[in-house]
Amino acid sequence: MSKIRVLPEHLSNRIAAGEVVERPASVVKELLENSLDAGADRIEVEIEGGGTRLIRIIDNGEGMDEDDILLCLERHGTSKITDDHDLDSISTLGFRGEALPSIGSVAKLVIVSRPAGRELGSRVVADFGRLIKVHETGCPCGTVIEVGSLFGNTPARRKFLRTLKTEIGHVEEVVKNYALAVPAVTFIVRIDGREALHLDGADTIESRLARIMRYKGPFMEVDSRPVRQDRPFVHGLLVPPEATISAAAILRLFVNGRTIKDKMMIHAAAEGLRGFLMKGGGPAGFLHLRLPPDEVDVNVHPAKHEVRFRNSHEIHELIRQAVQQAVQGLQKSIKTEIFSMPVKTALSVPPEPEMRPAVTGLPRTVDAAGGPQPLPYPAPIPPGTGYTAPEAFAGAGDFAAASPLQAAEPAPEEQSPLPAPNSPSGERHGLSVIGQFSDLYIFCQSGDRLVVIDQHAAHERLLFERLRRQFLQGRVTSQSLLFPVTVELSLLQSRLVEKNIREIERLGFSVREFGGNTHIISAVPALAGQCDSARLFMDMLERFGSDTSRTAGAGRLEDILADMACKAAVRSGDRLTAAEIDALLSQMARADLFSHCPHGRPVLKYFQAEEIKKWFYRP
Ligand code: ADP
Ligand code: MG
Repeated sequence: MSKIRVLPEHLSNRIAAGEVVERPASVVKELLENSLDAGADRIEVEIEGGGTRLIRIIDNGEGMDEDDILLCLERHGTSKITDDHDLDSISTLGFRGEALPSIGSVAKLVIVSRPAGRELGSRVVADFGRLIKVHETGCPCGTVIEVGSLFGNTPARRKFLRTLKTEIGHVEEVVKNYALAVPAVTFIVRIDGREALHLDGADTIESRLARIMRYKGPFMEVDSRPVRQDRPFVHGLLVPPEATISAAAILRLFVNGRTIKDKMMIHAAAEGLRGFLMKGGGPAGFLHLRLPPDEVDVNVHPAKHEVRFRNSHEIHELIRQAVQQAVQGLQKSIKTEIFSMPVKTALSVPPEPEMRPAVTGLPRTVDAAGGPQPLPYPAPIPPGTGYTAPEAFAGAGDFAAASPLQAAEPAPEEQSPLPAPNSPSGERHGLSVIGQFSDLYIFCQSGDRLVVIDQHAAHERLLFERLRRQFLQGRVTSQSLLFPVTVELSLLQSRLVEKNIREIERLGFSVREFGGNTHIISAVPALAGQCDSARLFMDMLERFGSDTSRTAGAGRLEDILADMACKAAVRSGDRLTAAEIDALLSQMARADLFSHCPHGRPVLKYFQAEEIKKWFYRP
């Protein structure tokens, strides 16, 4: 008598269910995938009692006849693959033929289905894997699957479930994922009879993502359409860097229409966003990778959560580059929106006559009250741009021009870290400067937008890019110090200098030992020439010493360059001259990357005239 026996089917189904059906959301995932494989373009998901009382999925897909319904309950019953060859190039979401029998083994199932072309449909009832009834019924085309009393026969599994709220959250998550993977399909979710989500297939993917993430955009568009049709490509939408730290900011990943989890893909996206991510932020939005089915193995996980790529190196690079390009695309779109707009009349609504005295009087009144002072920078009116200052503001403009603050303490040119513009008229940046506010923000007008720029963040990004370019081209340009600086280092710090001397020199420093642990710094990065040299040096050393830097190597060096840029940039509190503002804006307009500081904070915000109108409840 052999000791080994083959398990009866109901038992092996329950074992499979252990892997495939972890919680109500796993059931929803399998059923959604089946509906999508059946070509449905409208899917309704109804949940009662957190999914353990009832899960009902209604689709308008191709349906099943009675024989098929009975077969789909059989283990390994599938219409999706037939031979070995198919397994190597799976184009459907399902293929294992396990989901329905597994779910059926731990729940009460009712399947009602009618294929197109049949007058009547069929209804099959099975309780915990036992067939109860089969009969004909009138029903619409498509399939309704009801899963009741989930885990009713496996109390242990049921005990592992979390609160209703958590389970419902997981279910919604599954639906949201697929809603982004297949944007043309309408999804409706009802929780205990109440409609919780309604995503129409006719909506744009942007609006769908905006609703799902509760973030109204704009998004960065990722798109690496291939030169060759049969090569992998990735497309998607990501939130801009400053929005990456909210709770809802997660990155959803899809491969050929399937939702998956993949650390490599997340890493690649983060690499693409390097130097733009907020601290604690990660890439967020969604990325959809498309590649020939034979280049990805989807048969590595029972619940199909994970996949394996034939060439994950290539995929990593593909995603990293596509995301990097999306960052560049964001710069371009801001550029066309902000820097190249012809300046036209800002206020299309003519001022009402009775408002004039109040408006013209405003700057003085506010000033007297100790509020915001008039901006020391009169808005220039570029000739030939058709700009006509509305009458009511002409007075305010004169006032600003005549303001004593304009002449007050102009920053000396030679001390300015911002080079003066080459041409006397300044370079074209297309912005009409309104002035500096709070010695930090530069207010500008671009077309019918109000643009607010953080001078420090803006300058920091520009310097960072220049430093990085110099570094990558060999060495950061350095500047000899007229009076070399000595620093006393600890033994540990001396070792750090010794160990990293090549990098330190590449970063623009010249340093040599001067007996014991005393070191002499004789040159520093030129762009940071005005900074406290010893501080600059010590802070850099600290970066070399800390192991908590995001990554050793490239990440650390970028952190150091970002530190330098931060120290060298104009600060909050620095009053800028008109020429300096012009120089800053011109540099931004010319730069490839300018939208965020190296720490991911936004450099500029803009407000449409329409939006501003709403602040004041103007009709
Ligand atoms: P798989 O999806 O791996 O084939 P399942 O157990 O999930 O295995 O489903 C078994 C079969 O039942 C499918 O191959 C399909 O033919 C059929 N089926 C399941 N759900 C539906 C549906 N909603 N509409 C049409 N056919 C379905
Ligand atoms: Mg399936």
